[in-house]
Amino acid sequence: MSRKTDNPDDEIYGARTLSASLPKSHFPDQEENPRRIYMAVRDELMLDGNSRQNLATFCQTWEEPEIHDLMDACIDKNMIDKDEYPQTAEIEARCVRMLANLWHAPEGPATGCSTTGSSEAAMLGGLAMKRRWEARRRAQGKPTDKPNLITGPVQVCWHKFTRYWDVEHREIPMENGRMLMTPEEVLKLCDENTIGVVPTLGVTFTGEFEPVKAVSDALDTLERETGLNIPIHVDGASGGFLAPFCAPELEWDFRLPRVRSINASGHKFGLAPLGVGWVMWREEADLPDEMVFWVNYLGGDMKDIALNFSRPGGQIVCQYYNFLRLGREGYAKIHGACYDSAAYLARELDAMGPFEIVFDGDRARGIPAVSWKLKDGAETGFTLFDLADRLRVRGWQVPAYTLPAHCEDQAVQRILVRNGVSRDLCAMLLEDLRSALTHLDAHPHKTPLGEEDASGFHH
Ligand SMILES: *Cc1c(COP(=O)(O)O)cnc(C)c1O
Repeated sequence: MSRKTDNPDDEIYGARTLSASLPKSHFPDQEENPRRIYMAVRDELMLDGNSRQNLATFCQTWEEPEIHDLMDACIDKNMIDKDEYPQTAEIEARCVRMLANLWHAPEGPATGCSTTGSSEAAMLGGLAMKRRWEARRRAQGKPTDKPNLITGPVQVCWHKFTRYWDVEHREIPMENGRMLMTPEEVLKLCDENTIGVVPTLGVTFTGEFEPVKAVSDALDTLERETGLNIPIHVDGASGGFLAPFCAPELEWDFRLPRVRSINASGHKFGLAPLGVGWVMWREEADLPDEMVFWVNYLGGDMKDIALNFSRPGGQIVCQYYNFLRLGREGYAKIHGACYDSAAYLARELDAMGPFEIVFDGDRARGIPAVSWKLKDGAETGFTLFDLADRLRVRGWQVPAYTLPAHCEDQAVQRILVRNGVSRDLCAMLLEDLRSALTHLDAHPHKTPLGEEDASGFHH
């Protein structure tokens, strides 16, 4: 008797389970063999893109083996349960203190918390601004029914914040040649109902930093002249973990007294695995009491500030691992290599001919990203959307998208360089870009603007 048939559980693809279609919308009646189902599910993931070749996302797609081990060790840790997992809570508190230090918060208790990402952090930072404004208005006996928030061209989380919390969004539109907020444009929109101004450190569309200090100075002048005291919240989703290491002289953080809160994504340039962000307030008084829930499970009082309740603790633990393992030196090295590669990509793209570089990845002016458009009046037989499609053939995701309000007729393309995008990978991408251009020259094709699929770039 053949040993092969002794244990029918050894069969994988020969088993009937996998030679028939698995349920897609009804709940199966019977249980199944774990190995076969594992293979079926694992195989399906092959059809997802290769994340390392996804140059659209700002999020981490490569982690050290130690991080994988720590994530596994933390699979049971619920960060909200500070009684059961006091050490995870302690590690979060250390990260908060380290960030207060990194972002130059004044002496005093570090005020902030982890979140699931910058989006939740933006909701909390935004809500604190709204509550502080309401309290000031009530104290003056004035109405609180028309709050507004001023931003430049922002990530979708700020559209969510204003819509979910009934705040008027005054978004400074892009005008030809100006793709960022400027102090002049901010001042035009300020009034007594402005709860705050949100500059972005690393604008989604181009990668550039908005001028936090210039906006802060302008708001100082406005306060001297009119008495209006309008706070700043910095969306440092990317820049919060870049500027401190690669452009330390840039004043964008709590060194500016008007900056009352900051958000950043741990899972972007904080180098932690997906699922962690941070919100920090300048000092305790900037976080309204009614946003804090006190949990006394630990004998002492623990602050709970969050939209979620249960949440995995591994990302926080790994964030702390990164802080200790890399320090300022390690972050500067990793991000410095990304900036160097971005500059290299910008030079090579510029030399190809048809492109105008919008942002070249200069570390003092933005994040390690390159964005470009087709030269005005360039006679190409293709659009950037065609080029993006062509690169997909080799697995690269290099998104092309139209710009927001007032520049909707302009398309740009962007590459985000992050940890794990080596110089050789950049060179291979450039090779594929050149072949794509040759192909598109030989086979002209134009996707009309407006019919493109611009999804997937809002990271
Ligand atoms: C990514 C990003 C966000 C959203 O952050 P998540 O961590 O994905 O929730 C917000 N603002 C900016 C500028 C971003 O780059």
